[in-house]
Amino acid sequence: SKVKVAINGYGTIGKRVADAVFLQDDMEVIGISKTKPNFEARTAVLKGFPVYVPESSMDAFKKAGLPVAGTIEEMVKKADIVVDCTPGKIGITNKELYEKVGVKAIWQGGESKDVCSLSFNAEANYDQAYGADYARVVSCNTTGLCRAIYPLDQKYGVEKVRVTIVRRAGDPGDIKTGPVDALVLDPVKLPSHHGPDVKTIMPHINITSAAIKAPTTFMHLHVLNIKLKKECTVDDIKKLFVSRPRIKLISDGISSTAEIIEFGRDLGRSRNDMWESCVFKDSISIDDGELYFFQAIHQESDVIPENIDAIRAMTKLEKDNLKSIEKTNKALRKIG
Ligand code: NAD
Repeated sequence: SKVKVAINGYGTIGKRVADAVFLQDDMEVIGISKTKPNFEARTAVLKGFPVYVPESSMDAFKKAGLPVAGTIEEMVKKADIVVDCTPGKIGITNKELYEKVGVKAIWQGGESKDVCSLSFNAEANYDQAYGADYARVVSCNTTGLCRAIYPLDQKYGVEKVRVTIVRRAGDPGDIKTGPVDALVLDPVKLPSHHGPDVKTIMPHINITSAAIKAPTTFMHLHVLNIKLKKECTVDDIKKLFVSRPRIKLISDGISSTAEIIEFGRDLGRSRNDMWESCVFKDSISIDDGELYFFQAIHQESDVIPENIDAIRAMTKLEKDNLKSIEKTNKALRKIG
């Protein structure tokens, strides 16, 4: 029988996780939760996902004419595993419920690393999640960094990583977040949290990061500078990246995040999601023994396949990470 997945929180990440679980043949969505009867709740109903709500929201959903399947606690009790996609710092407040019910749980990158003892990336530490009760899928930026650093470290040894992240200010549907016209040091004091977060997956990597928030919604952009232990050529790096299941080399005249998203639209990707790390092929350079490149990270979607692989590892559906990654990728990708 299929693994029963509940999705607690149905926003940017939760709605994509629900659709991605729906596309797999070894797991099913038994319910999603919403706190407010808004258009996303309506979408879930129209898609046929049972909607669970907090006791206190029952009346509001009734008034809005949205059918409710039960309370969040009832949903959690029906599940083999919960993917918690509530806003950052809220997820941890649900831990008591998951422990009480005895259900496995996955949190997202907005939670502190201390929400549970395991941070997850499908390529770098899938084995550690095999059979685990709790895991945190690291943030969109950390996921993108791990996907590049892990294979480089395996093949050439990473001596140090320096990364500057130009962050999208808000997601496309977000009408509350700014800036509208500024570059914001995020934070002023260095390093940003991203470098240390990579160490929750690969503790031995020497990495520091700086981040700047920019008035854009499409994607984040990383400027990477990596010193490797062994010598290699630009072609070696291109070959290595092409061989990775979640790196897409971007070329054909693309020099912006806007064109990557347009490419995603043209490929017919659901919600134009480019869930692979998008490495700009011609940016890959080696200067004075150091590797440089740009990569763009689609913040709304790159962690989605990671959540699917975390479900497979934790519920012991698949022991081999590359097999799980391939299965997930195949289900999500039509073309491209
Ligand atoms: P979001 O605000 O888009 O969605 C959160 C959802 O949770 C909403 O549907 C909201 O109604 C619901 N919710 C709020 N309080 C709740 C509660 N107490 N119980 C149940 N549901 C509740 O947030 P998001 O962007 O999807 O982020 C979710 C998590 O994923 C955060 O940890 C975030 O840091 C992380 N994340 C976000 C992005 C991104 O770019 N948006 C990328 C990677 C990781």
